Amino acid sequence: MSGWRHWRLERDGDGIAWLTLDVAGAGANVLSREVLEELGAVLEALEAEPPRGLVLRSGKPGGFVAGADVRELAAVRDRGEALALVRQGQGLLGRLEALPCPTVALIHGYCLGGGLELALACTWRVAEDGPRTRIGLPEVRLGIHPGFGGTVRAIERAGPLAALALMLAGRAVDARRARRLGLVDHAVPRRHLERAARSLLAGPPPRRRARWTHRLVEAPGVRHAAAAWLAWRTARAVRREHYPAPFALIRLWREHGGRREAMLEAEARSVARLAVSPTARNLVRAFLLGERLKGFGKAEAPPVAHVHVVGAGTMGGDIAAWCALQGLRVTLTDTRAEALAGAVARAQRLLARRLRAPHLVTAALDRLVPDPHGHGVRRADLVVEAIVEDLEAKRALFARLEREARPDALLATNTSSIPLERIAEALHAPARLVGLHFFNPVARMRLVEVVSGPGTDPGAAARACAFVRAIDRLPLPVRSAPGFLVNRALMPYLLEAVTLEAEGLAPERIDAAAVAFGMPVGPVELADRVGLDICLAVAEVLARELGRPVPERLRALVEAGRLGRKSGHGFYEWRGGRPRKARVRRREAAPADLTDRLVLPLLNELAACLREGVVSDADLADAGLVHGAGFAPFRGGPLAYARARGVREVTAALAGLERRYGERFRPDPGWALLADEGGQSATSKEAQP
Ligand code: NAD
Repeated sequence: MSGWRHWRLERDGDGIAWLTLDVAGAGANVLSREVLEELGAVLEALEAEPPRGLVLRSGKPGGFVAGADVRELAAVRDRGEALALVRQGQGLLGRLEALPCPTVALIHGYCLGGGLELALACTWRVAEDGPRTRIGLPEVRLGIHPGFGGTVRAIERAGPLAALALMLAGRAVDARRARRLGLVDHAVPRRHLERAARSLLAGPPPRRRARWTHRLVEAPGVRHAAAAWLAWRTARAVRREHYPAPFALIRLWREHGGRREAMLEAEARSVARLAVSPTARNLVRAFLLGERLKGFGKAEAPPVAHVHVVGAGTMGGDIAAWCALQGLRVTLTDTRAEALAGAVARAQRLLARRLRAPHLVTAALDRLVPDPHGHGVRRADLVVEAIVEDLEAKRALFARLEREARPDALLATNTSSIPLERIAEALHAPARLVGLHFFNPVARMRLVEVVSGPGTDPGAAARACAFVRAIDRLPLPVRSAPGFLVNRALMPYLLEAVTLEAEGLAPERIDAAAVAFGMPVGPVELADRVGLDICLAVAEVLARELGRPVPERLRALVEAGRLGRKSGHGFYEWRGGRPRKARVRRREAAPADLTDRLVLPLLNELAACLREGVVSDADLADAGLVHGAGFAPFRGGPLAYARARGVREVTAALAGLERRYGERFRPDPGWALLADEGGQSATSKEAQP
């Protein structure tokens, strides 16, 4: 026996070596330093006694390899250390590629990042043709690009344009698409994987000649023009100063495309440079915050197999469809038959888009049962209420649900503003009542706030978190408080934008400032998208409960029937689901404090949430805003931004705004908690551009 912890090498009677990666003590294979070091020893054994052929596969049921170890990436101290790590990976994969025998990677499930780079270093790749296979190079999402030779080999296999498109988007594809791109050689059903590997090893080695179209694009003149076009297209999606990695990748190819050794060397240097940039540090932080949220879903709790959803409107219908997509049995009820019909039609579209294969779509639709009389409540493990936002209606409903549901069923409300304790008053035993605050649209927004009221049993909250995770969403535990965390923090930002607009600033200019800061859409457009009536309702709750002001302008627009996108007119006019915006002319200077006026109230509200214990720590507040509202991920979250800028600096800026514009900017006492957090405000100051 070899004594390796993570790798297993077996040789069969045909002279084929089967190398299995099964990382010890982990649910998924990741390429940590230790795993790579062992691979070095494995390669030594193979080099000493080469087999007739080598098959590389994973011992994990879920997939092949999920990528390099992100935690190790986060721990890298400087560029030199990053370069050493990348060179180690490059060197090992180079040795795998140089083995004197043909090699095959057998891929099932995920094969991402470093995992695909490993597979690309083999002579052949065979992937399972199934719904769970995901193949891709998502490194740009972490602020870097492939660094184990993946840029070179992906381009060699798929051609420059297809490979760069894949890497720039950071998206994963299924086995068939990967085959069409040339990234894998065969896509076969799982039971044929081994046979496919054997027959490849039995045949003659492949002749590798790049297609003439690929060679054409690599010609220097064409390459420079194509790179310029790619950079132009990328710049339309992201800003270079916020997200440098895609631009570095394009430059890498422009300068070194077609020259293997030079490109490998430049790849390593480029990744090492990117890995220690503030953007990569913050994107890695955002990723790890997401992992922390996933951790809340790991509690031992009775699984939820059947969900009963009450209310088939925008939210209830989409929650039901999402649960069916994720494999749960769902009954969906509403007092209006047309709401049920509409929800099922929407579900059909979602399932067709996501699952594609007709038999999978039919199976998912079979799991979603319209239930006009609400009989499903008696069998459900979890009941989710998503009816109109009206306290009395919700109370009456929960009094009935409590009688009809199984005594061990979890009861949940999707309310976005009613404190849980008010609804709980209608129940005899409120311990099993939680909030499950999904965001709109359910299929796109990954965060779900899991709300505990004073009477909620911690076991019920843990079970709710496990359910959220089981349907592939991110649970964020929050305490019942007006607006919970995300809406409460977003509201001052949206309302300040309304105030600015009322002062005469063009909405386009306000939005442009927020986008330049790094928000996915500007606050005025966001308000229009959410619906001005919904914004007003949340603003009024916060006004009532927390004394926050509501701009008159918002009320006036709602009264005039200008509700935003859904009515075709809000701050903007909407056509075909898009706002009509005038061009922002660069020469007209925006007020110097515009960005601070928008962003600092959001930060300030988070300080208040921390002080009140709405979430338990600053990292969770950042996780909520990054994953629930898309807050500039390359800044690592609002409070990470505040710390990088300096808490003292931020509170001073707020105090300045308070003097100029009024007490809504008064620094919250909660900042004291942040300033005390290990004095990070001083130490991480350089971590921001
Ligand atoms: P909606 O008006 O689209 O849907 C509500 C549905 O509930 C309607 O189809 C109605 O017929 C039905 N209904 C009303 N009373 C009922 C009853 N007693 N029994 C069964 N069905 C009943 O509303 P929505 O936007 O989906 O919001 C639902 C809940 O989700 C609200 O509490 C809201 O605050 C919350 N929420 C909404 C959003 C959003 O963006 N729309 C986001 C998060 C949370």
